[in-house]
Amino acid sequence: MPLAPPMHRIVFLGPPGAGKGTQAAELAKVLGIPHISTGDLLRAAVAQHTPLGIEADGYMRAGKLVPDDLVLRMLQERLRSPDARSGYLLDGFPRTLVQAEALTGFAPIDRVVSFEIPESVLMERLTQRRSCPNCGAVYNLVTQPPRVAGTCDKCGGTLVGRPDDRPEPVYTRLQTYHRQTAPLLEHYARLGLLSRIDAQGSREAVSERIRKAVA
Ligand code: ADP
Ligand code: ZN
Repeated sequence: MPLAPPMHRIVFLGPPGAGKGTQAAELAKVLGIPHISTGDLLRAAVAQHTPLGIEADGYMRAGKLVPDDLVLRMLQERLRSPDARSGYLLDGFPRTLVQAEALTGFAPIDRVVSFEIPESVLMERLTQRRSCPNCGAVYNLVTQPPRVAGTCDKCGGTLVGRPDDRPEPVYTRLQTYHRQTAPLLEHYARLGLLSRIDAQGSREAVSERIRKAVA
């Protein structure tokens, strides 16, 4: 009987601005598993004015975490989709110990990749970030500007800054990360699931380190 292909049930853990979203999209494509970003799911809910979106909006604008029960219900529902049967890449979840413990009850994890990066780099990446609401492309005004200011290279859409990428919410998000999410590193290290990777350097260099970590 042929061997079953290896399951890829992966978590990307790291501070805001570490580049998880970019790398997650790429790796998910390579592995043929869904890229599940709780931030993206929440932003879609906000844009569609669903009851969840209406409740989440204020927390997100302020750079605070959306309450665990709301995020958990949303993620559980997403993981019930047939595309998540053979694996998934969770980006931005879990962010609290409560979420991590709940996750063990409904979705096993094989590997947690921690994005390690100095704080000084993060602040700049976030406040200079602009994205295309139309196709999702992400730019940086300093390191990766679009060819025409304010316009997406890929689709011509008008670039926008996320409301939570202003300096004050960025500061709150970094603090929230240290207080509530960083303890998960210990948690997953104890379980023997943690791979720490250097998240500085080119996109290709980082992606290479990640592939080794999940191989
Ligand atoms: P970043 O990692 O750059 O902060 P995300 O797009 O992952 O950006 O998340 C944006 C916002 O969405 C967070 O600041 C938070 O308000 C909310 N959010 C995303 N994932 C979670 C989660 N697992 N638990 C609680 N809130 C979340
Ligand atoms: Zn675009």
